[in-house]
Amino acid sequence: MQWLMGTLLICGLWMFVACASNDIPVVESTEQLQDGEWTGSGEGRSGAIIVKVTVEKHQVTKVTVVSQSESSFAQETINSLCESALGRTTEMSVEVDGITGATLTSTGVIDAINMALKAAMGKSVDKSRTYQDGTCDIVVIGAGGAGLSAAVAAAETASSLKIIVLEKQGIIGGNTNYSTGGINAAETDIQKGLGIEDSKQLFYDDIMKGGKYENIPSLVQNFVEHAPVTISWLTGLGADLSDVGLMGGSSVKRTHRPQGGTAIGPHLMKILKFATSNKNIEIRTSNKVTGLLSAVDGSVTGGLHGANRLGGNGVADIVVNGRLAGIAAAQKVLK
Ligand SMILES: Cc1cc2nc3c(=O)[nH]c(=O)nc-3n(C[C@H](O)[C@H](O)[C@H](O)COP(=O)(O)OP(=O)(O)OC[C@H]3O[C@@H](n4cnc5c(N)ncnc54)[C@H](O)[C@@H]3O)c2cc1C
Repeated sequence: MQWLMGTLLICGLWMFVACASNDIPVVESTEQLQDGEWTGSGEGRSGAIIVKVTVEKHQVTKVTVVSQSESSFAQETINSLCESALGRTTEMSVEVDGITGATLTSTGVIDAINMALKAAMGKSVDKSRTYQDGTCDIVVIGAGGAGLSAAVAAAETASSLKIIVLEKQGIIGGNTNYSTGGINAAETDIQKGLGIEDSKQLFYDDIMKGGKYENIPSLVQNFVEHAPVTISWLTGLGADLSDVGLMGGSSVKRTHRPQGGTAIGPHLMKILKFATSNKNIEIRTSNKVTGLLSAVDGSVTGGLHGANRLGGNGVADIVVNGRLAGIAAAQKVLK
């Protein structure tokens, strides 16, 4: 099975990168906005923010929030940004400033409005899209669990490195947003605290059995070895993995998840997104990588769990290997 992982490219110091400049629509005349209702999405602090923009006589007459899951204190921010978008006809992202204290929510709302405006502009968006050269040390393709783990780990390894994450969708998270089970690891401090007896050898044996002994042993070994460290890394970032459950394919309880068995995916993405916020990491959504001009000795993370994914190893796999790839990339650039 082909697993899509966050792809990591080591660009070398100040290597050329070509990418869209955040897809900010440039409205040259009000006629470019077509009448109708247009939907857009952005990534807030707690997940996707979806808005509907109504355009009448080439002007924005209504902005409504279709769905969002921000904290109640952010409601005022959302309402205020939607209100300030009314009547606007040009360069929304410049005119609608973010509100201090709710930066992530502001960015999400603005991104959502901009995406809806792009749709309202139809084909003119392509003409207005500008491309600019950028410089960075590491490019991560894909802002899912693997990609953001790699970006955060690379930034932790060398805070001076400039990292850009390119994500083709308007929001981050990819499939990781939908994963539910949890993160498997053996011999973790959390297991020990709960009196759960487990061993890396037993974990290894379970994975090999679940994969019908077709998994590559050295990769499984590497994954098993680094899984407990990665659990500690995630909890250090603020993840709640204190509920350890038993899932198919495991001999003992080793699936780490938030209290009450809450879905792991959205929680993980929230933690990873937050971890990028105070680092030298820029996430560019709506930036699809359509080809690589060059890749200098780049490395790509890969899956290993095969048929055992239902046991909860999928998410564990991408975080463990995403993190290791990020560290390796940063170390390579520093050499
Ligand atoms: C419904 C569902 C339930 C699941 N439940 C579980 C579970 O319980 N336990 C478990 O272990 N696993 C589960 N999985 C699997 C697990 O979620 C995935 O293995 C894991 O999230 C993959 O992470 P990733 O970072 O590799 O990929 P993704 O999270 O999909 O991230 C890849 C990102 O790359 C972006 N991208 C792709 N191509 C490009 C491009 N050309 N340019 C720019 N960006 C690009 C995508 O838009 C995406 O955001 C589930 C999956 C689904 C769909």
